[in-house]
Amino acid sequence: MAENKQKVKTNSAQSNSRPPVVVVLGHIDHGKTTLLDSIRKSKVAPGEEGGITQKIGAYQTQAGGKVLTFIDTPGHAAFSKMRERGAAVADVGILVVAADDGVKPQTVEAIAHAKAAGIPLVVALNKMDLAPKEAPIKVKGQLVKEGVVVEDQGGDVPVVAVSAKSGEGVDKLLEVVGLVGDLLELKSEPAAPLKAVVIESLLSPKQGPLATVVVKEGTLRVGEEISAGGTLGKVKALLDEQGARVSQAGPGTPVQILGFSQVPPVGSEVKQGSGEAKVLEVKPALAPGEVPTAGLNLIVRAESEGSLEALVAAIGNLEAEGRKANLLLKAVGPVADSDIRLAAASNSLILGFNVGIISSAKKLAEDFGVGVRTFNIIYELLEVVEKLLAGFQALEEEKKAPEANVIAVFTLHSGDIVAGAKILNGKFKYRDRVDVVRDGESVHQGRIRGLKVGKDEVTQVSGGQEAGILIKPQFEVKKGDRLVIP
Ligand code: GDP
Repeated sequence: MAENKQKVKTNSAQSNSRPPVVVVLGHIDHGKTTLLDSIRKSKVAPGEEGGITQKIGAYQTQAGGKVLTFIDTPGHAAFSKMRERGAAVADVGILVVAADDGVKPQTVEAIAHAKAAGIPLVVALNKMDLAPKEAPIKVKGQLVKEGVVVEDQGGDVPVVAVSAKSGEGVDKLLEVVGLVGDLLELKSEPAAPLKAVVIESLLSPKQGPLATVVVKEGTLRVGEEISAGGTLGKVKALLDEQGARVSQAGPGTPVQILGFSQVPPVGSEVKQGSGEAKVLEVKPALAPGEVPTAGLNLIVRAESEGSLEALVAAIGNLEAEGRKANLLLKAVGPVADSDIRLAAASNSLILGFNVGIISSAKKLAEDFGVGVRTFNIIYELLEVVEKLLAGFQALEEEKKAPEANVIAVFTLHSGDIVAGAKILNGKFKYRDRVDVVRDGESVHQGRIRGLKVGKDEVTQVSGGQEAGILIKPQFEVKKGDRLVIP
């Protein structure tokens, strides 16, 4: 025994198993929430008062002496986001199918997600208290059609009949999930490099950014420097599912982290150290004075990571004549001073969804003349973006190229030819590219290498002014030519 123990300590390959991470999937109203509630409640020992108040989006339960970790975030929206980012956090999926309703579109979607993530399924045939006798056979047939070959149809996907409402069959379901977990031979390697996945994140007005993670490998400890999805942090505190402070969290454990500098994205992987972190999300990077002019630049704020993701996806789908919005920054929480500064520098509009504006930022927005609009209805926000996109199109069509008429020509002692021109519209700037147009055809292209109003050298002239314009390479401009800035 003593020898074995020593081995475990020194050789991580000899590690124990870790709890499987379980996700509950299925069609809306088929009973996912009721099932998760029922499992959570079953942990409360009979006679215990008050029960356990779950504080974070995951919990652990025991079944047949085995620990299971349940992800308790809304349905497969969160799950698919995690999968998209290549961080399949779940090891096993429970597919809830209401026996009285059968396989529905979101059941099919859930099956596809589980297949893509390569996780085994256990079918919970729910609402058995409501279903007619023949329902299980019918539903099993439907599942086989979708490629889920259940046990008594010659396949290996277990099916457990339950009533999430009464709790009937739920113990059996957990037992089966535990067995499926065993087959995966999941190793617990507390000494391995940290690998944890963010399953929920939000901005708490009091505690700042909070992230619930499930540790898959390694150990997360208070005091450590971490990063997730480009966000840096130092673990100030770890809270377990009951809100109690813990000093560390090992493989298979859900825990909430306090100490990120910003709200990390759902599905991102938490790693030790700050090596891969990029703090700035601004793209393209803006240097002072480098202002993107064409198009609609947006800064988007929302109250939670979930609605922010939804909003960004919806804005990404908007298009007017091939034109899309340019998202410079997305963040959770109220509109802040830093947003106003970025908006002022980048000519952006700030859109807030279910968030307010910090009072100092409000003042700053007035000073800078930055537009901030807040919404409570996503559809109204999207409508505004759509209108603005269409508007930009119209503005661009209206915008004419700067133009001037050559009204006189002078040749200097040096031999340089200067066009005396009247600016019709727009601005002519020193070093601008310029076309000389004669009888509707471009006859020469050059750059403005000298610009004078009267005797004064100037850097730019605008509509209505008369100016002497020196163009290089040299060209014999003529009275009546037009100068156009392309
Ligand atoms: P979700 O959308 O999949 O999370 O479904 P819910 O858990 O919200 O359940 C939808 C409805 O079905 C609720 O009214 C539940 O009370 C009810 N429900 C869930 N499970 C059962 C069950 O086993 N039996 C019965 N009779 N009703 C159930």
